[in-house]
Amino acid sequence: MSKRISILGSTGSIGRQSLDVIAACGMSVAALTANSSVERMEEQARQFKPELAVLMDEKAAADLRIRLADTNVRVLSGMEGLLEAAAIPSADTVITAVVGMVGLRPTLAAIREGKRIALANKETLVCAGQLVLEEAKDYGAQILPVDSEHSALFQSLEGNKDRGEVKRLILTCSGGPFYGKTREQLQGMTREDALRHPNWSMGAKITVDSATLMNKGLEFIEAMHLYHMPPEKIAIVIHRESIIHSLVEYCDNAMIAQLGAPDMRLPIQYALTWPKRVPGPANPLDLWNCGPLTFGSPDLETFRCLALALEAARTGGTAGAILNGANEAAVAQFLAGKIGFLEIADRVAQAMAKVPVVREPGLADILEADAAAREAAL
Ligand code: NDP
Ligand code: MG
Repeated sequence: MSKRISILGSTGSIGRQSLDVIAACGMSVAALTANSSVERMEEQARQFKPELAVLMDEKAAADLRIRLADTNVRVLSGMEGLLEAAAIPSADTVITAVVGMVGLRPTLAAIREGKRIALANKETLVCAGQLVLEEAKDYGAQILPVDSEHSALFQSLEGNKDRGEVKRLILTCSGGPFYGKTREQLQGMTREDALRHPNWSMGAKITVDSATLMNKGLEFIEAMHLYHMPPEKIAIVIHRESIIHSLVEYCDNAMIAQLGAPDMRLPIQYALTWPKRVPGPANPLDLWNCGPLTFGSPDLETFRCLALALEAARTGGTAGAILNGANEAAVAQFLAGKIGFLEIADRVAQAMAKVPVVREPGLADILEADAAAREAAL
């Protein structure tokens, strides 16, 4: 069970919910990091008293240093600071809750210190899953999933001793805010429309990914890496209610699932307390009033991002890094009002067609694929 924790991305949706869990479970904080949210970071640092607070942005870090001058909190900036927070000796666990590929180097730094990784930053696994898992094995670092679907799979696999008995993993997908819409209807969807998720309140990037269904595609690749499963042994089912968080189907056709209210504090907490369970702040599920549970198939023709991600999953090598880099660039453009909703998939397809895939990539190949994909997408 975790006792002292570093959070990379503490001011975001996962970061703040992680602090709720840490406070409720009596754990302590070694380091906090964010990009530029000075005020929120100051508040968090005063409340949780970490040794180290890091802001990626230099100017924001200088401001934070002045604001925290009356405390013992050391303030750093940039990637150097992020790496120091990830490897800080007093922490046994690092929660990776930054958004995007920027999380890769700090995740590797934490792994090399043998820390438990509570992994929310799925982009890291999509880009460099094989590398990250090999390093985790070499350094004896545990990786525990924070993503609700992967936590559900993890919990549904806990009783299983022989992976050969697993027929397939089934990821549930809410369908997002645009479920049931046609391509014509999606044409004019704006930033505001995309940011209205029916079941979860999350950061802007992942909320857009949930609207395009790219999020489920990223999760598909994340599951392949975390559970060593080939793409043909993973399926996606639309489940609008987000009550069943994912399932494992075994060779005898038994299905084991994990259910819960849609509340990220539960999977965050389990990544910290595993193999124990303790009472925590997550909302209980009221089975008697949650209504019927429904299931359906995803529409891969309307939601092209999901089809592109499945293609990248089957291709392997740097295809995941290309998919992800192009998507990060395209989503940033969509959020800035520069491209339309359907153009996100166009940009990703464009990058996948243009950037060559490297088999068995090292870190340099992955970083190169990411940069080339971002350029090709713009
Ligand atoms: P948010 O956008 O809410 O938060 C992101 C955090 O990362 C903030 O602390 C932000 O700081 C920091 N950050 C952003 N960009 C950078 C950067 N370039 N360098 C350093 N720090 C940066 O995201 P979420 O919490 O929603 O998501 C975080 C990760 O967790 C993502 O990978 C997402 O896919 C995954 N995830 C999220 C879920 C959710 O429910 N939110 C569910 C499952 C997975 P600042 O505040 O200063 O911008
Ligand atoms: Mg998820």
